[in-house]
Amino acid sequence: MKDKIYTDIICKEFCKYYKEGKEELHCNGYEILRNNLTPYELKMLVGSLKCGDEIKNHIPAKNKKLINLVCKRCDFFIDGCDYTDNRSEPPCGGYIIINLLCG
Ligand code: SF4
Repeated sequence: MKDKIYTDIICKEFCKYYKEGKEELHCNGYEILRNNLTPYELKMLVGSLKCGDEIKNHIPAKNKKLINLVCKRCDFFIDGCDYTDNRSEPPCGGYIIINLLCG
């Protein structure tokens, strides 16, 4: 289940797939950020990125290390993530944030 405070930062601001009311669904990027950062820390880090709304539609280059770390434990990895399948769509918000912070 999602936490509203994290959902507001990760999903509403960074994820093109976010749909209100689907609060039981979340990717492993979300899980990693929620488990390792307080809402305050996450807000501060994300604030320093200075991204526009277009970041939701940006398709980053494949990053093997991040895919191993973040995606391979994600429920969407096997069947349902067009980013990891063939990069035809952008990744989820959690992956985008981690990629920006680690890139
Ligand atoms: S990019 Fe896809 S597989 Fe990776 S964490 Fe996000 S939804 Fe899951």
